[in-house]
Amino acid sequence: MTFEEIKNDEQQYLMHTYGRFNTALVSGKGAIAKDVDGKEYVDFTSGIGVNIFGYCDDGWVKAVSEQAATIQHMSNLYYSPLQTSVAKKLCELTGFDKVFLCNSGAEANECAIKIARKYSFDKYGEGRQKIVTLVNSFHGRTVTTLAATGQDVFHNFFFPFTEGFEYAEANNIEDLKAHINDEVCAVFIELIQGEGGVMPLDKSYVEAVQKLCAENDILFMVDEVQTGISRTGDFFCYQGYGVKPDVITSAKGLGGGLPIGACLCDKKLSDVMTAGTHGTTFGGNPIACAAAKEVLSRAATPEFLSQVREKGEYIKSELEKIGNVKEIRGKGMMIGILTEKDNAKEIAAKCVENGLLILTAKNLLRLLPPLNITYDEINKGLSILKKVMEA
Ligand SMILES: *Cc1c(COP(=O)(O)O)cnc(C)c1O
Repeated sequence: MTFEEIKNDEQQYLMHTYGRFNTALVSGKGAIAKDVDGKEYVDFTSGIGVNIFGYCDDGWVKAVSEQAATIQHMSNLYYSPLQTSVAKKLCELTGFDKVFLCNSGAEANECAIKIARKYSFDKYGEGRQKIVTLVNSFHGRTVTTLAATGQDVFHNFFFPFTEGFEYAEANNIEDLKAHINDEVCAVFIELIQGEGGVMPLDKSYVEAVQKLCAENDILFMVDEVQTGISRTGDFFCYQGYGVKPDVITSAKGLGGGLPIGACLCDKKLSDVMTAGTHGTTFGGNPIACAAAKEVLSRAATPEFLSQVREKGEYIKSELEKIGNVKEIRGKGMMIGILTEKDNAKEIAAKCVENGLLILTAKNLLRLLPPLNITYDEINKGLSILKKVMEA
């Protein structure tokens, strides 16, 4: 098939939910993707923070393909040694007590929201159901996680949205305090707002959020769907902030390219979700778990994390030398770039023409490269970016 045929069929048969770049990717290795015409691209996106070992990493391919040939799916009515080993490893690496496995970030967040409301219902009865999230946040595309998302553009068409969400201004503890009353059961935040434009929260603010929550028996919940699994140079971003949330959610990088999400909770919440209160057909699927097991065995070591931090610093220092760069934000290999000419969308499209895949978030360029990208691949990608930025 030619690119034009693929594009025409997409127009004809797929719902038009995505604005796509003009390329159809068909294969890849490491940080290099190949399109249907054989053209190669350096990939600074890793499928929006998913392929943390790049395309078709040898160990990952082996783990996944061996599992596909062993047992591909069974229901959650039976025990699974892969689910237990993924959950155990997640708990060992974080100190959380229990894990619920699902298939996406939105689903992990739905689980967190249900835990918050049930914890409060069990302890205080009805009426303590509000969850405060932050203005400019992003938490997913289900009707409930859209309601949790603190951006008005997402609160359209699909009325009525799930009630019980309020939005406080990021990095403003007084505004958060103004939202806290006896109807609130949780505060749910991203530590670095990803889709909102790579906006890191201040450490002092996050510490104050944790304290405020603890004083009022309000759950402190962190959406680590984008920031987790070593993306920011810590295994989970909260670990670098020196706080301990009651609940965190994970997805994106967790399976290294297969759909898996997780909701992790503290010991005091371990018995909140009882039999019959939550479930999923595919959650904890053996192939997805085999992928996550491989990811967790390699992505959380001190060596792996330190090379993420080093490469992140290297990329930032090289970006500073590029024209049209106005501001660089982010942590580890989650990097946002504000351009002087405010032309991120145009730059991203031109990068694709020139052989570089790069993301945007709001009016920023955004880099989420594979975490094991080589310096050669980084330099190749940056030289394309430089050429486009300075054209
Ligand atoms: C991507 C993302 C989600 C949604 O994840 P899906 O897997 O697309 O449902 C939720 N929260 C954050 C912070 C994200 O970056």
